[in-house]
Amino acid sequence: MSPPVPTGLAPGAMLGILGGGQLARMIALAAADLGIRCHIFAPEADSPAFDVAARHTVADYEDEAALAGFAAAVDVVTYEFENVPAATASFLTGRIPLHPGARALAITQDRLSEKNFVADLGLPVAPFRAVDTLADLEAAVAELGRPCVLKTRRFGYDGKGQVKIARGSDLAEAHEAIGRFPAILEGFVPFLREVSVVAARGLDGAFAAFDVCENEHRDHILAFTRIPANLSATACDVAIDAARRIGEALGYVGVFAVEMFVIEENGAERVVINEIAPRVHNSGHWTSEGALTSQFHQHVRAVCGFPLGATARRGRVEMENLIGDAALRWREYLSEPGAHLHLYGKRDARPGRKMGHVTRVIPE
Ligand code: AMP
Repeated sequence: MSPPVPTGLAPGAMLGILGGGQLARMIALAAADLGIRCHIFAPEADSPAFDVAARHTVADYEDEAALAGFAAAVDVVTYEFENVPAATASFLTGRIPLHPGARALAITQDRLSEKNFVADLGLPVAPFRAVDTLADLEAAVAELGRPCVLKTRRFGYDGKGQVKIARGSDLAEAHEAIGRFPAILEGFVPFLREVSVVAARGLDGAFAAFDVCENEHRDHILAFTRIPANLSATACDVAIDAARRIGEALGYVGVFAVEMFVIEENGAERVVINEIAPRVHNSGHWTSEGALTSQFHQHVRAVCGFPLGATARRGRVEMENLIGDAALRWREYLSEPGAHLHLYGKRDARPGRKMGHVTRVIPE
């Protein structure tokens, strides 16, 4: 028997995207390159992605009448954020292909199920315990020791919903600080560096990873990504293989990122998996100019059932995030030879808000 042929779409199709931020905007721009039109579904009337899409719907993610209209108007649905409500995912799944699928969402939007999933694959994660009550927290801290990190199971991002527990920290205060929500406690990982693997899995199961990237955070927000990462070739292979196994075990379709810590153990570098993002990722923005295929084009290719593109990089690459007021320096970046400026079209440059990014590619 010949292998099953993916039920892919053709140029001219309509791609639905849940979420209207900069990630949806960049997916829609890439889709246009491939002759795919986009319909964005988002609750905020001033969503940055609306400016570059053929159609949009302003409605809540729980609005079933709006979702039914959206599903009828598109050929496939994807999303730009992992907190798509489970009910929304299952409502759409019955009507239209949803990529990545509802299972990938369910696992990755809960830190406890995500940790269990990764650990069950035999991949290294920080030691962790489920914490529902203050008594659980006290027992977990006694087992894992200090320092450690308490994180809400759901809705955490950019350092929100987490608190470090140091030697003198009061546990009741820490529990209070995360709103006493269901949480996990993680042992503190004494990492040397943080890296990520941005990869794609196609409708036919093909896998393609970009080179491992090194990420520098400031105030818990990604500030710089640099490629190649300062990581041994062996550890890079291990990191990419971990992403491959995660993608396969999730039955994943689309681009995803796996964030990892680099630690030193017995004189060798090892990677420890921190979290999975079931979407295009900020640490993959460098691919727009720095790789043969951008993560956004790759995502559109994957969810439409097209062949994946080549992922080789075009040189040494740096991506600088423009947070808050940094975007006001747009004229400087435009004057810098070889710098590529991307602005997201957001009106208010609030502190901590991602307003744009710059990529620089230095041919090797
Ligand atoms: P997360 O929201 O899990 O991506 O965590 C945000 C940041 O907090 C990470 O990028 C790390 O810099 C830091 N962090 C999170 N978990 C740990 C941990 N278990 N050990 C040390 N640092 C951590």
